[in-house]
Amino acid sequence: MAWLIDYPREKINWGPTIDEKKCVGCGMCLNCGKQVYDWKNGKACVARHDDCVVGCTTCANLCPGKAISFPDIEEVRALYKKEGIWAKMTSFLKKQGKIK
Ligand code: SF4
Ligand code: SF4
Repeated sequence: MAWLIDYPREKINWGPTIDEKKCVGCGMCLNCGKQVYDWKNGKACVARHDDCVVGCTTCANLCPGKAISFPDIEEVRALYKKEGIWAKMTSFLKKQGKIK
C-alpha cells in the first residue's frame, strides 16, 4: 500500500467498528471501495478490517445511524512520526518526481 511505504499494515490500528444497536441496515457502507464490509442477517459487519485505508472515514461520515467508529487518529499520527513513515513518503514522492 503506497500510503504506508512498505510499513506492515497489520501493525497500524485502523479500521471500522460497528455498533450493531445503531445500525439501521441501510447498506451504505457496503459501497466501500476496499470491500471491508459484508452483509449478515440484515446488517453490515466488518469482514476485512485491515483492508480499510488508513485515515479514511468515509463510511462513518455517511452512515445514517452514526454506527461506525474508528480508533483515535492521533495515535496513528504518533506512529507515523515514530516510524518515520512521513519522511519515507516524502522521499518516495521525490524519487517519483511528484514533488520537488
Ligand atoms: S452505513 Fe451504517 S447504518 Fe447503514 S448498514 Fe452500514 S453501519 Fe448500518
Ligand atoms: S473508512 Fe473508507 S476504506 Fe475504510 S471501511 Fe470505510 S469507506 Fe472503506
